[in-house]
Amino acid sequence: MDLLDTLTAKGLRGETPTREEALAVLATTDDELLDVVAAAGRVRRRWFGRRVKLNYLVNLKSGLCPEDCSYCSQRLGSKAEILKYTWLKPGQAAEAAKAGVSGGAKRVCLVASGRGPTDRDIDRVTDTVAAIKEADPAVEICACLGLLSDNQAERLKAAGVDAYNHNLNTSEGTYGDIATTHTYADRVDTVQKAHGAGLSACSGLIAGMGESDEDLVDVVFALRELGSDSVPVNFLIPFEGTPLAKEWNLSPQRCLRILAMVRFVNPDTEVRIAGGREVHLRSMQPLGLHLANSIFLGDYLTSEGQAGQTDLDMIADAGFEVEGMGESTLPRHRADIAAAATGGCGTGAAGGGCGTAAAPGEGADATVGGGCGTGGGCGPCGGHGHAAPAATADQTAEEAADQAAGETAAAADEVRTDLVRVRRRGAGTELAPNA
Ligand code: SF4
Repeated sequence: MDLLDTLTAKGLRGETPTREEALAVLATTDDELLDVVAAAGRVRRRWFGRRVKLNYLVNLKSGLCPEDCSYCSQRLGSKAEILKYTWLKPGQAAEAAKAGVSGGAKRVCLVASGRGPTDRDIDRVTDTVAAIKEADPAVEICACLGLLSDNQAERLKAAGVDAYNHNLNTSEGTYGDIATTHTYADRVDTVQKAHGAGLSACSGLIAGMGESDEDLVDVVFALRELGSDSVPVNFLIPFEGTPLAKEWNLSPQRCLRILAMVRFVNPDTEVRIAGGREVHLRSMQPLGLHLANSIFLGDYLTSEGQAGQTDLDMIADAGFEVEGMGESTLPRHRADIAAAATGGCGTGAAGGGCGTAAAPGEGADATVGGGCGTGGGCGPCGGHGHAAPAATADQTAEEAADQAAGETAAAADEVRTDLVRVRRRGAGTELAPNA
């Protein structure tokens, strides 16, 4: 297939495809799916080998947010029966983080619900970072606290935070359809503030909210343009009690096409499968590892994932390996760019901090949540995709597509409480974390 040959060649050179090529990936058929995964998988292995970076979410403050992000179980007016609690104490957060690190995570993502942190909240996070780094100085810390005010990013950087997550979530053109209490421009501003302060920028998207292919391509190119070092790809978890509870638009095949497109547009950037992995990819999760080089271990912010040990078994069974603390996530040239942009600390380099990226192809190196977006945090979610059926002997492909559309519409009337498990263990409970 000419398209895939072109995309592979560009990806192996670290080049970005055209917008039309990215759209064409999303338009491929199920018959072409394994070829798409194989092509994007070559690009993934070129820059990240078979390494999988594990990230671990700690929800520092859950629920009761004044913002109205429609995908989020913590939003204003949410009826989702999630855990609700105010700030964890530093020792409690460090205890939760320790479980994730013991399970193999090299990055801990500290998330808090809310529009953005107060200066007192920055103090709390500072104390929490100190407690975590006292136990393990090599662990990477990403903060996800919502919209940042002036000088807060600098304070987080001084506290030892390595990265800041704030997702764009969807295209600029449709942002007003999913949230009204802040704007797309507000989100861009926070990503730029974080980057400007020397924090590695983590910013991604949520798929499955009813957006078009053009919207997906728009947001993925915008993230590339912003210079995000890691791109979390969330698949909407339609929580009962939120406005998007009936948005079950994703199939495992659709999720794989989206991940492949994100990989082709970001060949040498960390691509993470974030919230909704288990719910939407289901038994196809191992194929996702051929596209993304990073996942969350265990549970998300307000929903449960599969057991941490199941994540580790899946990685081993699929022939991948967990990325170690001493390895840099990004390939050397990208780590150098990140280091230059952040004044020396790049992303990914564990431990020492600066630019220790491994050579391409060898082993070198947040979310919804508090603010934003990724998996655990603010929203993601789950879904039970409805794959298009193959045409029967009596059916044309067009008729089969119509049938699929009808089934999707029927599915959109459902609330799938069987697929979305609200988190009832770990941070904010008396039960042990899942890691
Ligand atoms: S995504 Fe973040 S800012 Fe939006 S409602 Fe959820 S917790 Fe609040």
